[in-house]
Amino acid sequence: MPELPEITNLAIQLNRRLADRRISGIEVLQPKCLNMPVDDFQAALTGATIGDTHNRGKWILTHTDRGWLLLNLGMGGEALIVDRSSLPEKRRLIFDFADGACLSVNFWWFGYAHYAPEGAVEAHPMVGKLGPNALDLTPARLKDLLSGARGTLKTFLLDQDKIAGIGNSYIHDILFVAKLHPLRKIPGLTEAEIETLALVIHDALKSSLEKGGASYEVDTYGNKGGFTADHILIGYREGQPCPKCGTPIEKLKTGSTSGFICPACQPLS
Ligand SMILES: [Zn+2]
Repeated sequence: MPELPEITNLAIQLNRRLADRRISGIEVLQPKCLNMPVDDFQAALTGATIGDTHNRGKWILTHTDRGWLLLNLGMGGEALIVDRSSLPEKRRLIFDFADGACLSVNFWWFGYAHYAPEGAVEAHPMVGKLGPNALDLTPARLKDLLSGARGTLKTFLLDQDKIAGIGNSYIHDILFVAKLHPLRKIPGLTEAEIETLALVIHDALKSSLEKGGASYEVDTYGNKGGFTADHILIGYREGQPCPKCGTPIEKLKTGSTSGFICPACQPLS
């Protein structure tokens, strides 16, 4: 599943490659991914000139002179910029541009391509309630977000409405480097632990972003990211020695997902 580094990388490339292009046509092969009938979606964005693109968590927001295109690749997919003559076999949505290039979007499972009129992004039922981008998190902001929160740390960090962009691929190593057990109760965290956590979240995601994201996702050119399994410290490495202390890494149930920890480096109490 694409996470913040991969989506941020896509948004940076789309910002650079789509700006000033005019949408001359839209082909929709999966109407279910839209938030309106196909005709209305096409009418809203055909003829629009594209401005800036950025992301908020796993949503990619492209501003145009006729409102917003909001994309979410869901469990994964591709957003490729190609010539009409070299479209990939798998695609759910094609945006044609006046210069002959197109943006071909594929969802492996299910994704969203929504339209929001100017000024309506904050009212969008999914994008509007997202928390701040994990890459923009400062220690002070994280402290604010955690103050008054209850429950356990990992569940909180994965809640996109609290912080947008941390998912299962990066969470294990983030908690390991921060020396925090995933089931730690939020009210028991010290100020120093929160400060370290904020810095570790930023560094972990930034480090993957600088490598172009995870190697199982592709960018707008179709190139794979450079963050591979070799860069993972303890995530999905059950039974292998902790890279810091040698204790075997344990897998544990954390709510509806699994967690990986070094029981010596990340004590629960
Ligand atoms: Zn350890």
